[in-house]
Amino acid sequence: MVLDQPFLFHSICSIYLNCGLLDVRWMCQKVEAAYQQDKVAINAAEGFIRQLIGWREYVRGLYWLLMPEYKTRNFLNAKRPLPDYYWHGDTKMRCMQQAISHTMTHAYSHHIQRLMVTGNFALLAGLDVTEVTDWYLAVYADAYEWVELPNTLGMALFADDGVLASKPYAASGAYINRMSNYCQHCHYKVKDSTGNDACPFNVLYWDFLARNEAKLGSNARMQLAYKNWHNKEAEQQQALRAKASEYLLKLEQL
Ligand SMILES: Cc1cc2nc3c(=O)[nH]c(=O)nc-3n(C[C@H](O)[C@H](O)[C@H](O)COP(=O)(O)OP(=O)(O)OC[C@H]3O[C@@H](n4cnc5c(N)ncnc54)[C@H](O)[C@@H]3O)c2cc1C
Ligand code: SF4
Repeated sequence: MVLDQPFLFHSICSIYLNCGLLDVRWMCQKVEAAYQQDKVAINAAEGFIRQLIGWREYVRGLYWLLMPEYKTRNFLNAKRPLPDYYWHGDTKMRCMQQAISHTMTHAYSHHIQRLMVTGNFALLAGLDVTEVTDWYLAVYADAYEWVELPNTLGMALFADDGVLASKPYAASGAYINRMSNYCQHCHYKVKDSTGNDACPFNVLYWDFLARNEAKLGSNARMQLAYKNWHNKEAEQQQALRAKASEYLLKLEQL
């Protein structure tokens, strides 16, 4: 993720695929042919084809298999109202400002922004599953419920208790810092978790683990995260949770 770069190397083809102007099989065959003719590297061709016949067809299958019950799931009991900045991007969190403003300008943001910025924030803050899925359905030009819902409710929010993904895609600010240059341009301090300007993703990450331990603590893929949490001193845990309560109370002002 790069400041002010909404598209990078993404194909922007989901809009055309989903409304039927492009055919998935035809696209995969074109990409395979480009690889056979040495026009693209195997990792690029494989990665692209995998997104289409792997992820896209996979989420389509899940939707038709599990609806309409799937839409009612809320495994982590997430009920907090969606902050207003999801609609205008006016927040001090640079990563959120970027992902939301790209969304509002282009009706598009790429996968990592959807999953690891706006989706991750919704997961960590426990935002209401229906409000979040309604938002994703409203703001993207490629949004159709059969593809939007499993990606949001399942992949981003883990509200299906691991039907789509084997663990929640929960991450602290360190992940966003590694994957972007946003944190260098942010009001918050990505290395801080309890101070005045502590990165909200750090603060909410630890609180997310602590408050959901009864539901996630036995997940084999969460063991390292919980080990890190339990390795903290009791005082540090209390400070993190106190900071999280403060941030959750003023979620609209972050
Ligand atoms: C919370 C959330 C909501 C999403 N909502 C939608 C949505 O409403 N509609 C939608 O088409 N995609 C959705 N996605 C999946 C993915 O983010 C978009 O397909 C992708 O960003 C579209 O941009 P692109 O065409 O430039 O994709 P590229 O990065 O160039 O990928 C190529 C193609 O692979 C397919 N693809 C890749 N990942 C996925 C995936 N997880 N699910 C389905 N197809 C995938 C898409 O057809 C995409 O066009 C969502 C992802 C998340 C995390
Ligand atoms: S410091 Fe935190 S809030 Fe700011 S851009 Fe980085 S991850 Fe986002």
